[in-house]
Amino acid sequence: MGQDDADGIDPDADTVDATRTSRPADEQADALAALGNEHRLAILLALGDRESATRTNGLELTFSELYDAVPVESTSQFSYHLSQLVGPFVAETGEGYHLTYPGDKIVRAVRSGLYETTPSFDPVPIPGACVGCGESDLQARLDDERFVVRCRACDRALLSDSFPRSQASERSPAEVAESFGYRIWSTYLLIRGDVCPECYGRVERRVDAHEGHETPGDAGRYTFAAVCRTCDFTIHLPIEVPAVFHPRAGALLDEHGFAPLDTPLWELFELFVSGAWTTDVRSTDPLDARFEIDLDGDALALAMDESFGVTPVDRLDPS
Ligand SMILES: [Zn+2]
Ligand SMILES: [Zn+2]
Repeated sequence: MGQDDADGIDPDADTVDATRTSRPADEQADALAALGNEHRLAILLALGDRESATRTNGLELTFSELYDAVPVESTSQFSYHLSQLVGPFVAETGEGYHLTYPGDKIVRAVRSGLYETTPSFDPVPIPGACVGCGESDLQARLDDERFVVRCRACDRALLSDSFPRSQASERSPAEVAESFGYRIWSTYLLIRGDVCPECYGRVERRVDAHEGHETPGDAGRYTFAAVCRTCDFTIHLPIEVPAVFHPRAGALLDEHGFAPLDTPLWELFELFVSGAWTTDVRSTDPLDARFEIDLDGDALALAMDESFGVTPVDRLDPS
């Protein structure tokens, strides 16, 4: 996050350079070039609109139905543009034409305004606490076209995320911030199964440590990065997150007003800062971490191993 292109939490936002160059194959350049024409986009949108209108996934339109739906001058012109889409974006069967998965993605991207101007929203104060300095003076804002949760006391960017324009529409600034809270958990739930939130390829995790924290113990000091082997999507999340979603931790947090799915990550930071949640990372390779939650005397201890699996342990277990 922060200055790199990865999403999520990164207390040392300026230390990571995830710049990566990928060389597109000719085939990919050709496929994208096929989209660079208004008639072809009109064909894709016509297929998508008819699917929406009839609520039928993969609806087939015959050549003439599709031709009637698109404003082009001649059959031969239409035929040419359609042929440029068949394969990657449009499937041709004996019955007619329908959108492929990439075609459907393009239609949704166009509808959501992904290729239009960047989003905007006004900075808004949000609840929660800074895992760097411990202060409760967080602000959600737009920085370099990314959504950022920043601590106004120490100017640390606690979290940043890509920000599609559609996420800002029909939402107040506070609702925009809230929606990012849900996006983070949605992303985590996929990563929990090693599934990339962007392309559904396989992700791998590694543990990172961050220096310069003034909060008690190790809470908020370690993150894990989940990196997609296929598309290179990268997200950093606090190492505590898998423990938050252990059923017993979830129940305990829920009873004390921190229901995990409905509480944004930055509000859980209050627990780290207050000491209600403590983290003890005994080793990062192999990973061995202990967590203790103590909310008004209701206590729970958990251990995390190198597989990021979380198990309840005896609080006094010294090993
Ligand atoms: Zn701070
Ligand atoms: Zn991916």
